[in-house]
Amino acid sequence: MGRTLAIIKPDAVRKNIFGYIISAIEEAGFRILAMKYIRISTEQAAEFYAVHKEQPFYKDLIEFMTKEKIIPMVLEKDNAIEDFRTLIGNKNPALAEEGTIRKKYGETVTYNSIHGSDSLENSEKEISFFFSKSEIMGNCTG
Ligand code: GDP
Repeated sequence: MGRTLAIIKPDAVRKNIFGYIISAIEEAGFRILAMKYIRISTEQAAEFYAVHKEQPFYKDLIEFMTKEKIIPMVLEKDNAIEDFRTLIGNKNPALAEEGTIRKKYGETVTYNSIHGSDSLENSEKEISFFFSKSEIMGNCTG
């Protein structure tokens, strides 16, 4: 079984549609191993997106990710990372494939509703950024 980190982003929380996104995730066969509903600090967002710190959109991204609560989740499925990237679609909702979460709920490349880890190495880092081992343990799949 593979794991990935998903984050329902502030735009989806603000629009009061995160339940639909969680349903789409479950319908696609992912099991939610852990989930939080939290507002992160500027420092936490800056650390999470440190890889983008030289990018022109970095400041806007940090501001966006801290202005409302977010929902980080640990998801489990065979081929979780790749299958979740397929489910969410292109980071630009205008370019995302029909039926993807970003196509359906995203608005712009910043306001794109959801995050998914892009590699095994990043998924491990991102999962431990938000969750301790004990917060992930104890679910029905062990
Ligand atoms: P993702 O893995 O598909 O989310 O895409 P990236 O890792 O490349 O970027 C992380 C996040 O930064 C994206 O989800 C966007 O919210 C934001 N982002 C990335 N590229 C751009 C860009 O060119 N412009 C803006 N405004 N935001 C971007």
